Amino acid sequence: MGAPAHHAFFEGQTPAASAIVLPLTTAGRAMGYLCLGSDNAGRFAEGMATDILERFATIVNASLDNVAHRERLKQLGMTDPLTGLANRRYFDERLREETTRAARYALPVACLFIDIDGFKQINDTYGHQTGDRALVLVAACVRQQVRLGDTLARYGGEEFAALLQGDLKDATVVAERVRQAVSALELLDESGMRIGLTVSIGVSARASKHRDDPSTPGATLIGEADRAMYLAKRHGRNRVQALPGNTPDAPGR
Ligand code: GH3
Ligand code: MG
Ligand code: MG
Repeated sequence: MGAPAHHAFFEGQTPAASAIVLPLTTAGRAMGYLCLGSDNAGRFAEGMATDILERFATIVNASLDNVAHRERLKQLGMTDPLTGLANRRYFDERLREETTRAARYALPVACLFIDIDGFKQINDTYGHQTGDRALVLVAACVRQQVRLGDTLARYGGEEFAALLQGDLKDATVVAERVRQAVSALELLDESGMRIGLTVSIGVSARASKHRDDPSTPGATLIGEADRAMYLAKRHGRNRVQALPGNTPDAPGR
């Protein structure tokens, strides 16, 4: 095996005296390679019987394929096919995990509940397909405004929920950024006219000061964000809102 090939299959490792590379294929496509090297120059030589190694590669291949399949299935059950975001099932699972973790390590955790304003009207005026395009556009826009590690999901029809690491102040900043970014989106109807899009966002947070603070259950966090969102609707839409007494300057509960 020449030096470039050796580098491709073994990367920076010490060159082996002899080596064998077995392709791992699924449905005729190479999914990877099983690379074995030896200090012994005669260990892997041309013309030697490789059937045991090939059987080994088959087993490795089947195991990898199995893991990939399980991952795909998991994705299928947890992903919203229209927007590509996680779905509510995934969000609820993460919500439980994140609130438990936040309580254990005295970390703040915040939640955004985002609802597109007047979405029924968009569907009714421009049709469901345009409505779907709006959902895809808003989903991608929100994704851009939150951190990669934050959990974002399509929670319901035209509702999105985000779980952020941070307190109410941090969450309010992110929410305001989301609100502005959505209002600047360029959704066009069939004749190229811009369709205005806005969202109302409810924010809630568990600002943890002490390790032994009782945990705010996930259901409370999302419930408060949801109620705050309805308050934003009542106050005129296209706005960010926390529940009264739950302002960014209020001490942690
Ligand atoms: P508000 O400002 O109070 O939020 O009003 P709204 O019209 O956004 O709220 P409403 O709950 O009345 O309407 C939500 C609409 O979202 C109704 C439903 O048909 C639509 N919807 C839900 N899922 C989808 C979807 O996957 N695609 C499309 N195109 N529409 C959807
Ligand atoms: Mg709604
Ligand atoms: Mg709505």
